[in-house]
Amino acid sequence: MPILLGVLERLRSIPGVTIRLEEPLAPHTRFGIGGCAAALCEAADPSAFDELFHFVRGQQVPHVVIAGGTNLIVSDDGFDGAVLRFTGNRITINGTRIHAEAGASLQSVVDASVGSGLKGMQTMTRIPGSLGAAVYGNAGAYGHSIQERVEQVVFTDGGEERIVDNAGCEFHYRESLFKRRKEWIVLSAELSFEPGDTIQLQREAEEIRAIRDAKYPPTMRCAGSIFKNCLFNELPAAVQVQIPQKLVREGKVPSAYFLEQVGAKGMRRGDIQVAGYHANLIYNDGAGTAEDLITVIEDLKKRVFDRFGFALEEEVQYVGFEPVTV
Ligand SMILES: Cc1cc2nc3c(=O)[nH]c(=O)nc-3n(C[C@H](O)[C@H](O)[C@H](O)COP(=O)(O)OP(=O)(O)OC[C@H]3O[C@@H](n4cnc5c(N)ncnc54)[C@H](O)[C@@H]3O)c2cc1C
Repeated sequence: MPILLGVLERLRSIPGVTIRLEEPLAPHTRFGIGGCAAALCEAADPSAFDELFHFVRGQQVPHVVIAGGTNLIVSDDGFDGAVLRFTGNRITINGTRIHAEAGASLQSVVDASVGSGLKGMQTMTRIPGSLGAAVYGNAGAYGHSIQERVEQVVFTDGGEERIVDNAGCEFHYRESLFKRRKEWIVLSAELSFEPGDTIQLQREAEEIRAIRDAKYPPTMRCAGSIFKNCLFNELPAAVQVQIPQKLVREGKVPSAYFLEQVGAKGMRRGDIQVAGYHANLIYNDGAGTAEDLITVIEDLKKRVFDRFGFALEEEVQYVGFEPVTV
């Protein structure tokens, strides 16, 4: 274990930080897969989290940040270091602005906006997970993403709290500055909205909820889409000419289009299953393992590469596989 006893003692002494040793991570992920973390450290107070993060970085303890675990594949071997989670979840509404802490669920921010007649996030109904991770991955659905709402983000670099505005977040499709700078952790965001009609917004949100619950039953152990959709302009010219124009929406081609053609639908390995109705949806149908999940993902990537000559890119994030952050 890279977490030494002295380090643990010091971690325990930070006010506002709770620590669980040898914590199984599977229950903290929607896939329900993954081994233990040497330590799961949580803080709901931004300055406690800041101190925790500062200490862990300073001591070069291997660490990773998680939130709701809805977009994670955790190794069967778990994570031999500190898994950090900021759980502050306060939401404050001020006119057409909402200030929310990163640990707030995205759904609670959507509900707060819709309930206050604020328009702009109703299409994000039922995107699981936290606000912080939504900023990190520029989450979105139905043609809208969080980047349209973000005014500014407060983050910690493990030394001090800093603020970045929307342009500084460098948002792109499922990308942000925070995805590239993993040592910058979102603490809160200021979001702006347009005035709207609560009843109308509720109706829109309900319609989307029904569609999404049919596609992703709430008990399904998955991560939503495994792969990002593909930006049409970035595809090889020889592939572009094969794509029916009606499939290109907002400059993107669904990855499912390519996956279907390589026979992804219904594929199974152990208890890992590719949905029969959606080639970009993989779920744990029982006692699935990360090893089987990764094997299926690699197989699918290879099939698409061999057939179309380009690599699909995962939307899902990995914990316990890659060289760790220290
Ligand atoms: C059924 C289902 C449907 C989904 N549909 C959609 C969809 O329509 N659109 C969409 O965009 N996504 C979708 N997703 C993916 C998922 O909901 C998002 O990626 C979500 O933002 C993940 O939130 P989380 O809190 O669970 O993050 P986690 O899965 O815990 O973490 C994801 C990543 O965020 C990082 N992270 C977490 N918190 C912070 C923070 N405070 N600061 C910096 N980095 C942080 C982590 O290090 C990790 O790399 C879906 C997932 C599921 C299971």
